[in-house]
Amino acid sequence: MADLSDIQTVEHDVVVIGAGGAGLRAAIECGQQGLSTGLVCKSLLGKAHTVMAEGGCAAALGNVAPQDNWKVHFRDTMRGGKFLNNWRMAELHATNAPDRVRELEEWGAVFDRTSTGLISQRNFGGHRYPRLAHVGDRTGLEMIRTLQDRTVHTKNVAVHMECTALELLLDDGAVAGVLAYWRETGRLLLLKAKAVIMATGGGGRAWRFTSNSWEYTGDGFALAYGAGAELIDMEFTQFHPTGMVWPPSVRGILVTEGVRGDGGVLKNSAGERFMFSYIPEKFAAETADTVEEADAWLVDSTKHRRPPELLTRDVVARAITREVVEGRGSPHGGVFLDIASRRDAEFIKRKLPSMYHQFKELAGVDITSEPMEVGPTLHYCMGGIRVHPDTQMTTVPGLFACGECSGGMHGANRLGGNSLSDLLVFGHLSGIGAADFVRRRANTPVTDMAQIEAAVRRATDPLNRAEGINPYVVTEHLQRVMDRYVNIVRQQDELETALVELEALKVEVANVKAPGASQYNPGWHEAIALGSLMITAEAVTRAALVREESRGGHTRTDFPGEREEWQKVNVIVTRGAGGAMEVRKELRPAPPPELAKIALATLEELEGSGAVAAPGQGA
Ligand code: FAD
Repeated sequence: MADLSDIQTVEHDVVVIGAGGAGLRAAIECGQQGLSTGLVCKSLLGKAHTVMAEGGCAAALGNVAPQDNWKVHFRDTMRGGKFLNNWRMAELHATNAPDRVRELEEWGAVFDRTSTGLISQRNFGGHRYPRLAHVGDRTGLEMIRTLQDRTVHTKNVAVHMECTALELLLDDGAVAGVLAYWRETGRLLLLKAKAVIMATGGGGRAWRFTSNSWEYTGDGFALAYGAGAELIDMEFTQFHPTGMVWPPSVRGILVTEGVRGDGGVLKNSAGERFMFSYIPEKFAAETADTVEEADAWLVDSTKHRRPPELLTRDVVARAITREVVEGRGSPHGGVFLDIASRRDAEFIKRKLPSMYHQFKELAGVDITSEPMEVGPTLHYCMGGIRVHPDTQMTTVPGLFACGECSGGMHGANRLGGNSLSDLLVFGHLSGIGAADFVRRRANTPVTDMAQIEAAVRRATDPLNRAEGINPYVVTEHLQRVMDRYVNIVRQQDELETALVELEALKVEVANVKAPGASQYNPGWHEAIALGSLMITAEAVTRAALVREESRGGHTRTDFPGEREEWQKVNVIVTRGAGGAMEVRKELRPAPPPELAKIALATLEELEGSGAVAAPGQGA
């Protein structure tokens, strides 16, 4: 066991765990509010997963389509989320996103421009109008660059990078700090704090085929859950319809929706644009049902109905899966995505430079002259840590959450582009929420040595064990279980099998051995991440078993279609008193009438109505 007298200790008002878009925006806010802020991240600053975001950041700026406004954005988000979104969060998101994007521009982000010099906006699935502010297909990189620059120039913010948070520390049920370790040396770090903001991203690494980075091991879900916070609607996992399928070494890597937004179409092995056969009734009025109209949209996207390739991600992912299962797939088990026959090479290289290089270098495919092969890949966790919509505080006093690790905002399915705006909006609000909490907190929390010792023992067991199982082998086993039984299409017996397998895996996890010392030891990092991956996997599986309907990112073959009674229910996961995971259904409050009216309005009723801000909001 590590020498406890050797623990390095620092003290902050607030500790932000995670330096992606959400964590950076939260840290900037805390610093600007005059709080001493510690920013902890397990990779290098600037390398967070947000850097991978390609397509853009959704905000109703109305630069390309002046008819756009926050109400249409809110309506699109609710419809995309199958009305399971937290109403207030969706409202705050739609009303605040334009300000957050403009603020980013003021801080130095260089977005692509319209011909009149405004921030350009591109089309994306589920958004009625061109709405995504973007920088080619490298939007996340520009956002991180800007936020990082702002962070290091903000007073009061200290960055602790390549430092992994292990457990949250509590004092009488409220947050008291974080125990962490430096990945390079294995040395422990105790961060005492009056508030903690969780901004750790998602948990897609519990699946083998995923677009997610190595950081996405669900640490935030696990840390918050371990401290007593509730997780909400974990069953909703988004499979992005277009990941690379070939060669096997790169399977899962994302092919941005921007390819379809910029005119790319999906075809099966017979060369058919099969998406015309999969238009759901409720989207029929807004979706082009002939090739001619879909192509007219290419010329003026504000006047014509959208091509069916831009239906929401769940619809497109299921359609692709069906084409493959029914024998109309591409040679490597996907379908074809063709932009080469629709746009010239110069356009493709300018608008989609990363995609061009990705396929050229990783698959030997020139997308300016050949179609890509694509198929669904685990992309985003809609579920996450439950928060209060205005303050972002979780059910644990002093613990806040924002970005992909928090739940509620996206309901049953997230629209592309809504994550980058989500993390700006709720990163900002969680900073304000934490600052309020710190100012009002009467006591200085005390960290408990017994709790620290127990946490250190749990973390170092894999190093100290005489022998045991290789953690990488266990991770692979876990990913096989999730790919096989908790994938895009689910059913009761398979989910139950997954739970049996997960129980067996818990025994293996308790016996993993990371050979070597704590310095420079990736095997040990993997052993620690396994704990979080397991909690993520179990929470998703248990919640998926409870929700007996198909909605958004959650499809049950034994319960096809949405069921009205389930629209009124959230699925909540908590840690029971005995330590076992508990799941319950919770009735949702009725939607605020004024928001329900907007969500159900026709576009004609909303167009031109958005200049007015939502109640209680700056525009
Ligand atoms: P991240 O950016 O992932 O940051 C998480 C941070 O937490 C990291 O700094 C990590 O080091 C840290 N961390 C994690 N665990 C710990 C721990 N235990 N201790 C310390 N630090 C920890 N969304 C859009 O809206 N538009 C897009 O165009 C888009 N494109 C995408 C493309 C790809 C390939 C992918 C995978 C996703 C895309 N998304 C997009 C989704 C979006 O990028 C993410 O949802 C978003 O970036 C999440 O941001 P975040 O700040 O919540 O987390």
